[in-house]
Amino acid sequence: MIRELKISHKDIELIEAELEANNPYEACGVLIGTINGSTALVEKALPVTNVKRTRTSFELDPKEHYDAWNEAEKNGKEIIGFYHTHPVSSAVPSLWDRETMQNDPSVWLIAGADGMRAYVWEDGVKAVKIVEI
Ligand SMILES: [Zn+2]
Repeated sequence: MIRELKISHKDIELIEAELEANNPYEACGVLIGTINGSTALVEKALPVTNVKRTRTSFELDPKEHYDAWNEAEKNGKEIIGFYHTHPVSSAVPSLWDRETMQNDPSVWLIAGADGMRAYVWEDGVKAVKIVEI
C-alpha cells in the first residue's frame, strides 16, 4: 500500500507546465520510477498524448504508453503511476477517474486548478502524501 509519493521539483514544474499548455483540455502522462515499501519514488514524469483531448477525461496514446513501459522496463524501472490534469476543476478524482482507478493499483497524481494531489484505490479512494524532493 503506497502512502507517500516522492517527486522532484523539476517534475512538479513539468506537470504544471503541461497543465497550462493543454488548458482547457486535460493532459496526461506516466510516472516512471521505483516502489520501496510504502514509498513510490518518481524518477521521471513523461508526458503522453491524450488521445481523447477533452476537458473532463483522458486516455493515454497506446503506442506512447507502450514505448514508455518498454523504456522503463529496459532500465529496470516501472511505471509506478500516472498523472493527469484537471485544468478547470479541483484535484479530486472524477466519477470516471474513480471507476478507472478501481482496476488500476498504481498511483494517480492529479494536477488541478487548485494544486496537486495523489491517490490510490484501496477499497475506495485514499490520499497519498506528496513529498517534494
Ligand atoms: Zn480526472
